[in-house]
Amino acid sequence: MINLRLKIIGTFKDLSPFVVKLDKDENFTIQDRNVSVKNENGNFTFMLSDDDVHGDICLVFPETKTLLRQIRSSSTSNTILLTEQCDQACVMCSQPPKNKIYDHYHLYKEALLLAPPDCIIGISGGEPTLEKKNLFPFIFNILEERPDIKFHILTNAQHFEDDDLALLSKINPSILWGVPIYSHDSGTHDEIVGKEGAYTGLLDGINILFKSGALVEIRTIVMEQNINDFPKIADFISRHMPHCETWAIMQLENIGYAKMNWSHIFVDTSKNFAPIENALSIARIKNINTRLYNFPMCTIPKEWQDRSCKSISDWKNKYLDLCDECTMKSKCGGFFDWYNEENGFKKIGAL
Ligand code: SF4
Repeated sequence: MINLRLKIIGTFKDLSPFVVKLDKDENFTIQDRNVSVKNENGNFTFMLSDDDVHGDICLVFPETKTLLRQIRSSSTSNTILLTEQCDQACVMCSQPPKNKIYDHYHLYKEALLLAPPDCIIGISGGEPTLEKKNLFPFIFNILEERPDIKFHILTNAQHFEDDDLALLSKINPSILWGVPIYSHDSGTHDEIVGKEGAYTGLLDGINILFKSGALVEIRTIVMEQNINDFPKIADFISRHMPHCETWAIMQLENIGYAKMNWSHIFVDTSKNFAPIENALSIARIKNINTRLYNFPMCTIPKEWQDRSCKSISDWKNKYLDLCDECTMKSKCGGFFDWYNEENGFKKIGAL
């Protein structure tokens, strides 16, 4: 695992947070993993346990003596965690809601203006659109200066309104919206997300997104609660959302509420792939583009392995010892760092 938030020691001009782009020719030296940074806002050091930091764009918080590697030059998994607040309480949430907002928009803007060309920035939460009054203008402003940047925003789609249409249609060409649907059945969906009426709000929200010309990735996590619904979900998406960019079928991340509820939500799809296979077949006939996220490749029947992708962010990705023998390792997404072999997939093995 790569630590994105690091402790720092140093002296600072004042306690205001600031942005620094680490450049080994200009402002930092490294010796025995000990990084020393000289900057107009202060001089500080931190310990690096893993990869290189050259080119990283970091947010520095003198008050809490922390540094956040906001945009790592070696990564394609750079995400802004905007808020930990959420109006849902999903049974498999990997990042359970907390009453914390990270609305450092001036820092994010400074960091994004320094970002490499054509980068993709994730925005997640919590529920980012709880912050939509700030978030949408923020994206609009960034795109005015950096039209090459693309955003991937995860949202429960509960908070879009017709009043958002004008601004959404301006920023949408640069955004892929990731929206979860957990069942074709409203009761099942509402129970999974822990919010009555969520399904109705979700369909309204998706309609507004489509009306505004948004690019939408539908996301469905596999659980005991919905595994048998998958063929029906495939049919529902193909009839009601045929213009979605992709339908991502996702395995669980064993952390947060998912870890707490693991014994009654995890489906070992290495042993029972049939409902997913049926859903993939329906989607193929209906021309819906499908992807499998967070499925180790050896847990997928051969016919569908081309749908798997490296969906796990590099900083929390790992492989098992047996993967060293595998010819598909370079194409396989592997496991979350917190994956537990004891309660995970039973049928895995080098390909
Ligand atoms: S053995 Fe490891 S690298 Fe190979 S497919 Fe399975 S999980 Fe992926």
